[in-house]
Amino acid sequence: MLSILNPLLIFTDLDGTLLDSHTYEWQPAADWLATLREHHIPVILCSSKTAAEMLYLQKTLDLQGLPFIAENGAVIQLDAHWQTHPDYPRQIAGTPHAEISMVLNKLRDKGRYKFTTFDDVDEQVIGEWTGLNRTQSALTRLHEASVSLIWRDSDERMAQFAAQLNELGLQFLHGARFWHVLDTSVGKDLAANWLTGEYQRQWKKHPITLGLGDGPNDAPLLDVMDYAVIVKGLNREGVRLKVDTPQRVYHTHQEGPEGWREGMDYFIAML
Ligand SMILES: [Mg+2]
Repeated sequence: MLSILNPLLIFTDLDGTLLDSHTYEWQPAADWLATLREHHIPVILCSSKTAAEMLYLQKTLDLQGLPFIAENGAVIQLDAHWQTHPDYPRQIAGTPHAEISMVLNKLRDKGRYKFTTFDDVDEQVIGEWTGLNRTQSALTRLHEASVSLIWRDSDERMAQFAAQLNELGLQFLHGARFWHVLDTSVGKDLAANWLTGEYQRQWKKHPITLGLGDGPNDAPLLDVMDYAVIVKGLNREGVRLKVDTPQRVYHTHQEGPEGWREGMDYFIAML
């Protein structure tokens, strides 16, 4: 078991993990978040959401000033203490949003693919898709280095589309609700490793990493963590990790933020 006194870094998915996937409720995790804050243990949010959305969520969760990983790793917000870092406040990697958008529009014109991107609709429609209020829906559209979309074509066509993207240096990633197009050179795992390296340099000791996630799209992140919590979720495929031993991985019985708390209780002792 880990101790709250260890040099820990917590990387966590949002929807279905720290936040309830339907209500976005997170209260069951509140006590743990307060404890981690008291002990100066960074909680690093990690998701497909935009930096604007994540800054908003950080405020709600009282995690301001901490790093986060947005847009599936294409965007990394740095720790507020790293103001001398050349990339401060944010590192944006790979192909920019506008360029990916252009590629998608070209492919759609040429290949007659059926999909709807977040740029094709207004925040009212996004609100209907996500259940978010108007303010938050507006933030979901502020992509910097990826495009989110709803796929409306066949699986066969999807394979063809993904292959075409790949030839252009882009990946087609399945998230919990939407599909995401981003540079092949970026990922949540790479972003997490990069942040861990930065903390190691600051702390002058090797951080111990604990990751929490609920979906197959979290597997690359959880694979590079020292310890992983798989929060029980709606996804029938489950999460398959390369090393799924009881010493390293805990599968929760509860879903969402209750599962998050259960995983933290399992791995971290209060001394
Ligand atoms: Mg999730």
